[in-house]
Amino acid sequence: MEFKEASLRERKIYYHEEWKENDVPQFIIDRITEREFAFDHDGNGYNDRYKAFDTIGSFSDFLIKNFPYAVCTSVSFYSNPKNREDWKGAELVFDIDAKDLAVKSCECKNGQVCEKCLAEAKEIVFNIKDTLIGDFGIKKLSLIYSGRGYHLRVNDSEVLSIERRSEILEYVTGSKRPKEIFLSHGYPAVYRKMFALTFAKMKEKDIPFNKNIVNKLLSEKNNIISKIMEGHADFLDFKGVGDKTLNDFLTHIEKINGTLVDGKVTVDVKRILRLPSTLHSKVSMKCVEIKNINNFDPLKDAIPKFVLERKA
Ligand SMILES: [Zn+2]
Repeated sequence: MEFKEASLRERKIYYHEEWKENDVPQFIIDRITEREFAFDHDGNGYNDRYKAFDTIGSFSDFLIKNFPYAVCTSVSFYSNPKNREDWKGAELVFDIDAKDLAVKSCECKNGQVCEKCLAEAKEIVFNIKDTLIGDFGIKKLSLIYSGRGYHLRVNDSEVLSIERRSEILEYVTGSKRPKEIFLSHGYPAVYRKMFALTFAKMKEKDIPFNKNIVNKLLSEKNNIISKIMEGHADFLDFKGVGDKTLNDFLTHIEKINGTLVDGKVTVDVKRILRLPSTLHSKVSMKCVEIKNINNFDPLKDAIPKFVLERKA
């Protein structure tokens, strides 16, 4: 699969023949008048900002007329979105970009994505989603394929007004050491789950220790993972691995986990985010709301028709 940029003609075909109002998520349509819209018309950035629409119909007319390179909306709601006045809350969002994952089991270079790391991004999304539902009681959660990764968007009314979001981010990514690692529930369980998820993908180059320790950690990987998941405090009890190495190793993985989600996106409530149903022109993929994450395959479900016709 080639992730090639869409031409102007292809964008026009997409918005004229394939894009449908129905593919815009309900959580966008419900409060469409309170969101800021932003457009990138030529691939040079979101220079056309602070737009607002009264109806989905007028937005639709705009798309058909302009077939923009990229479309975003604010995650925030405003009484007057054109001036971003009178903030009325913001969705809680998590942005997991496959191209930015620090540890992946594929051979992608920085900035590239492939089937494998897209699947690994999806696995991270799965885990964060479970934590949001299980530990935070989140109910209105939408999963979005962003074009090169995933967005989790939470619209529960209780979270919209939260202004400090960094602690939630630490919790769901397992990027802060709990006081007690082996408690069976709550944050320690999330911490161990996220530790295992990251460690499972680590290769020699991902572990900054001497060769002996690296070999030991990698050869015992499955054993270490099942021990920590089962709550055994001696999960790293090997010859040559002392408290310092244990501490350094946990710190190293916490740092990586702190980068699984683009923290700026979660913390900044003034953020704009790609609108599901629109085209990610840089890679010629659709940004789509995912109805069933288990069956979702970006290489089937997010490929615009014009890409298939390129080969013909
Ligand atoms: Zn990859």
